[in-house]
Amino acid sequence: MYWDKDIEIMDRERLAAIQLERFKKTVKKAQKSVYYGGMFKRMGLNAGLVKSLDDIRNFPFTTKDDLRAQWPYGFIAVPKDKLIRMHSSSGTTGRAIVVFHTAADVQAWTDVLARCIYMAGMRKTDVFQNMMTYGLFTGGLGFHYAAEKVGALVIPAGAGNSKRQIQLMRDFGTTAIHIIPSYALHLSKVFDELKVDPVRDTKLRIAFLGAEPHSERMRRKIEEYYGFKAYNSYGLSEMNGPGVSFECTHQNGMHIWEDHYLVEIIDPKTLKPVSDGEEGELVMTTLLREGMPIIRYRTKDLTRIIPGMCACGRAHRRIERIKGRTDDMMIIKGVNIFPIQIEKKLMEIPGVGNNFVIILEREGYDDHMTVKVEVQNEVFTGDLRPLEDLRKRVIDELRADILITPRVKLVEPGSIPATEGKAIRVIDNRKE
Ligand code: ADP
Ligand code: ZN
Repeated sequence: MYWDKDIEIMDRERLAAIQLERFKKTVKKAQKSVYYGGMFKRMGLNAGLVKSLDDIRNFPFTTKDDLRAQWPYGFIAVPKDKLIRMHSSSGTTGRAIVVFHTAADVQAWTDVLARCIYMAGMRKTDVFQNMMTYGLFTGGLGFHYAAEKVGALVIPAGAGNSKRQIQLMRDFGTTAIHIIPSYALHLSKVFDELKVDPVRDTKLRIAFLGAEPHSERMRRKIEEYYGFKAYNSYGLSEMNGPGVSFECTHQNGMHIWEDHYLVEIIDPKTLKPVSDGEEGELVMTTLLREGMPIIRYRTKDLTRIIPGMCACGRAHRRIERIKGRTDDMMIIKGVNIFPIQIEKKLMEIPGVGNNFVIILEREGYDDHMTVKVEVQNEVFTGDLRPLEDLRKRVIDELRADILITPRVKLVEPGSIPATEGKAIRVIDNRKE
């Protein structure tokens, strides 16, 4: 049941002691990089000043812009010949950043991600199809190595090419997949077109859903369609990639591995820690990385610590599914809205299809939101009444939740382009 029982269920006091020791080492290592070396000197910081975990607050935050400014090598803390791997972020919010790993880093990452997928039930008997982009993106090679370590048979399918994905699943009896949730919904249409029923015609039993925010309702929809259990997988390139935080079989929040990462939740405005269980921005420090240690990284991802122990007995705390990035927040007529709120509502309405996009426009001094929603084929009967009824219902349900009245445009299935990578949920035409 446990990949690494000693570490997974250790008592919190011991965990804290390990964290303190590893944090001190991290500060020492980081000092060797151009960025932290210079900054520690200016601020008079060093490992000797760290007496307790609370002393982390004396260290400034690190941001994506800091990483960008140090392109390409300003964060590496070892001689370059010790590095064996480079990865990059997806560049969702601007220029991508790069992260470097030593052999020990790749090993530690592989091991902690193996811990995750084993926890969710993957075994050496599984046939694992990795449907994420290989290459610079961490979801490809990261999962590949971890699944091999568990001993599964790995099919490095990569992203896209839906028909071939389905063929591979059928021919080789794929039991587990790693997939982006919006792509899983898109793929269901291709299953329908081919008249292949994933429940009847495949052996799929587990999926790892990662790389983008998705609601509980969307997970359930995917699980129901495919007949498998889907586990939420959270990670970011700056903290290696997948393997940061993962659901156990209780599917009730994601365990965040505190022997690898020091976790803080802060108020993104005041930058002060929030009280226990409150929502805020996740801030993380690497505790084991040697090639490129990062201290107090502001992820911009919003979540909260779920208070209390998980029924599985693991000591590592859980975070709530990610609500979105602080950057994703739309402000319309003074109301703050996250795309996931819209997604959650849409998934609850019968007749609504698999894809949607939010378009923001400015008319005069007024901001408008249009939600373009794919609807299921059955709604197109030639009769306009059911369509108009559905449109009104979508407006009403959204208004009840987000408190402004969006414009809603219903479109045919497949008319909003599906992406192989992270879904584009918002098109903001308000900026010139
Ligand atoms: P980028 O930040 O450019 O998208 P990454 O590929 O490193 O590059 O993506 C990491 C980000 O993806 C996270 O910071 C988070 O915003 C999002 N993300 C990853 N996994 C999840 C998940 N399970 N739920 C919600 N968001 C996720
Ligand atoms: Zn658990």
